Amino acid sequence: MIQIADPKADPKADPKADPKASSKAPLAISPKADQKASYDKNKLHKRLRRETGKAIEDFNMIEEGDKVMVCISGGKDSLTMLDILMSLQRHAPINFELVAVNLDQKQPDFPEHILPEYFTSIGVPYKILEEDTYSLVKEMVPAGKTYCGWCSRFRRGILYKYAKQEGFTKVALGHHRDDMLGTLFLNLFYGGKMKTMPAKLLSDDKENIVIRPLAYCKEKDIERYSQLAKMPIIPCNLCGSQDNMQRQVIREMLVNWEKQHPGRLDSIYRGMTDIVPSHMLDASLFDFKSLQRQEPANTAQRVSVVNV
Ligand code: SF4
Repeated sequence: MIQIADPKADPKADPKADPKASSKAPLAISPKADQKASYDKNKLHKRLRRETGKAIEDFNMIEEGDKVMVCISGGKDSLTMLDILMSLQRHAPINFELVAVNLDQKQPDFPEHILPEYFTSIGVPYKILEEDTYSLVKEMVPAGKTYCGWCSRFRRGILYKYAKQEGFTKVALGHHRDDMLGTLFLNLFYGGKMKTMPAKLLSDDKENIVIRPLAYCKEKDIERYSQLAKMPIIPCNLCGSQDNMQRQVIREMLVNWEKQHPGRLDSIYRGMTDIVPSHMLDASLFDFKSLQRQEPANTAQRVSVVNV
């Protein structure tokens, strides 16, 4: 028998929707629903594993002997990434090491015990770094502005430095397909650039290789899987900051597109993996200047075939 704290799935489970429900024991799920949840979880696990494995292979993200620093924020994406990488590690034909690393940025009410307990329970080596970037960001950012830009810049800097110091050969981040789609439009709409988060990246100082193993995974699959696997999700808004407005607008736009035109996001994503430089306008990617028309190899034969 399991309990699922998902008020959206069953309005009666929401104490606000049914005042009487608050005095009752938590909703018990029938064995049939239990079986269905377990089936869904396995199905999603297989799908996420297949897509992650494909991305790792396509971009040669992990190689024999790699020491991978798996960056864990405590959100659904990074915890799912860790779960799937551990599963792949158990069955991979190559040997590589995984270490879960969390940076405690001293956000108010950050539940410090959750991640160490979880990492111990799943048997992954881990390290918790502590750095009070929260106070720093609060001081720097004017009231009413979002903290996220500076917060992630500091986080990245600290994690990359630690990776170099400890000899990690790869730094794994939990961004997924929908993050990449959002970033593409953010750059296109507000930056005039056709670029997104790469699946594999050499850091600016050339000393770290950053990988995004969930590059082919959909956010809705990750979200559902993390719920079914009962991962101890820590929300990323303990700081009281909001994601920047532009990103929110793009997110809503993508969600609405998908509702109105199912499959549109898949199509855009496929487009990102199949760029045709000769049909774009970037002369640095395609040598338009040297384009020359070519004479057919054998004109006489071609004419005779046409005449027949
Ligand atoms: S929501 Fe808070 S913790 Fe998350 S990235 Fe933004 S500032 Fe940092």
